[in-house]
Amino acid sequence: MTVQNHTLAAGTSHATPYYIVPGGRNGPVMMIVAGIHGNETASIHSARQLVGQLRNRRLRIARGKLIIVPIANPQAYRKRIRGVPDLNRTFPKGPKRPATHPMSQAIVQLMKTYKPSWYLDLHEANGLSKHDAKVLGQTLVTDAVNPVVPAARRVIQRVNSALQSPSHQFHLRLHPLSGSSRTAAARLIHAKTVTVETCWSLPFHVRKSYQIRIIKHFLREAEMV
Ligand SMILES: [Zn+2]
Repeated sequence: MTVQNHTLAAGTSHATPYYIVPGGRNGPVMMIVAGIHGNETASIHSARQLVGQLRNRRLRIARGKLIIVPIANPQAYRKRIRGVPDLNRTFPKGPKRPATHPMSQAIVQLMKTYKPSWYLDLHEANGLSKHDAKVLGQTLVTDAVNPVVPAARRVIQRVNSALQSPSHQFHLRLHPLSGSSRTAAARLIHAKTVTVETCWSLPFHVRKSYQIRIIKHFLREAEMV
């Protein structure tokens, strides 16, 4: 198994690496995107760490194909800002509508080329969902009708059952977000799709560890590892 290096938006000021990891056998395609918001750094570092683990074979993809885009918005990441415009509002807002940013266009093209049946979008947010139903920190988010819901519930249960800090509990939030990559992946390629949101005010290594744990639970759900 090798990690194949590629460049998204090659030759433009948005150029950013992405990686394809083919498993030994046929199976589902999973796409993991981080850094749509350039200041959500724990999710970016988690995606990069995952690539490192795959390179040094501490993690192996047994079946299917994993595609990882660690820094979806490199211009925003260089400045450590969310990004202007908000890239996660520029994905197609309907079946006939276009993506309106070079990076959302490039990511949609990647989706359409590989048609992943799983799509994880890694983010970070304010607050702790255990204490406030309105905040997104420590949540998995998807649309109520998305087929990922049962798997997302199982992943949350597994993460929460191993928690040392009960206030860090994850919760499921169900709502579409027009213009987001998650909702576009659901509509365009009918992927099982979820947004992972860790809480920004937790220490960096703790946020990273939740992101990595959740990714690995989803890889197990997809029976890829
Ligand atoms: Zn975000």
